[in-house]
Amino acid sequence: MVKDQIEARGIKNERLLEAFRKVPRHLFVEEALQNQAYEDYPLPIGESQTISQPYMVALMVDALQLTRKEKVLEIGTGSGYQTALLAELAEEVYSIERIPSLAHRAISILNRMEYFNVTIRIGDGTFGWAEKAPFDGIIVSAGAPEIPEVLKGQLAVGGRLVIPVGSQSMQNLFRVTHTPEGFKTENLGGCTFVKLVGRYGWRDNV
Ligand code: SAH
Repeated sequence: MVKDQIEARGIKNERLLEAFRKVPRHLFVEEALQNQAYEDYPLPIGESQTISQPYMVALMVDALQLTRKEKVLEIGTGSGYQTALLAELAEEVYSIERIPSLAHRAISILNRMEYFNVTIRIGDGTFGWAEKAPFDGIIVSAGAPEIPEVLKGQLAVGGRLVIPVGSQSMQNLFRVTHTPEGFKTENLGGCTFVKLVGRYGWRDNV
C-alpha cells in the first residue's frame, strides 16, 4: 500500500511513510472487510460513513507538514485510522465525531493501541474546539459547502487547515495557512468525501 499507492504518487515525507507502515489499517475496518483494508479505495465503516482511501489520508496529513511538535484538531474521527496516524506525527491530537457509535469504537481501538496523546469528543466539529485552540493544524475529513470561518479563527499563526470544499458529490481539497500577513488559500485538487453535517456544514436533512 505505501509503496504502490502513496510513494508512487509522489509523497516523499519519510516520517509520514513510516507512520503509514506502522499503523495497521485492517484493525480499523470490520472483520468482513479486513482482506480489503490495504486496497486503493475507501471502505464502509457503518452509519453510511467511510474510511478514506489510503492515498487521500496521506495527501491530507502530508499537507499539515507535521514535525511531532504540533497540536492538531481532527474533525470527523470516523474509524480512527487517520487519528492514529496523526498521533504518530503530532504531539497532541483532539478529534471530534458526531456519530456516537463511531466515536466509541474509535476510542476503544486507540486506547487499546495506547495512543495516550489523543482526546476524542462527540459533537458537531464545525464549531471547532475553542477551549483547546489555537491549533497548529486542523484537518476536516468530510466535505463542507464552504470554509467555516470559525475554524480559521482557531488556527495559530503558522497553522494550517486542510478541508474538502464543494458540492455534496464533488469537492476540492483546500489548504488554508494562517500567515502573519493573513490567510493564504491553496487548492490541492479534486476529491470526494461524505458530507460534513453541522451548523457550519450541510444541514442534517439535505
Ligand atoms: N478519517 C476518517 C473519515 C471518516 S468519514 C476515516 O478515515 O475513518 C467522515 C466522518 O466525519 C464520519 O464519521 C462522519 O460522521 C463525520 N462527521 C461529519 N460531520 C461531522 C461534524 N460536523 N462533526 C464531527 N464529525 C462529523
